[in-house]
Amino acid sequence: MATHVSCPTCKKSTVYSKENPYRPFCSKRCKLIDLGEWASEGHRIAGKPADEELLSGDLPGNQDQSRE
Ligand SMILES: [Zn+2]
Repeated sequence: MATHVSCPTCKKSTVYSKENPYRPFCSKRCKLIDLGEWASEGHRIAGKPADEELLSGDLPGNQDQSRE
């Protein structure tokens, strides 16, 4: 019996089983993205955690600039 779950990264339905070493993700790529290690896949970010917030979108106004 295979259990299906939604990949936390891309929301694609994927099999949650021993046959999927990247569960609950659909692929190695999605797992790396979720771990924040996607930089090693070819992109480079100079250690700026704020970038993750930008990726999530929905930032109201210039909230980012109020940070000290
Ligand atoms: Zn995925």
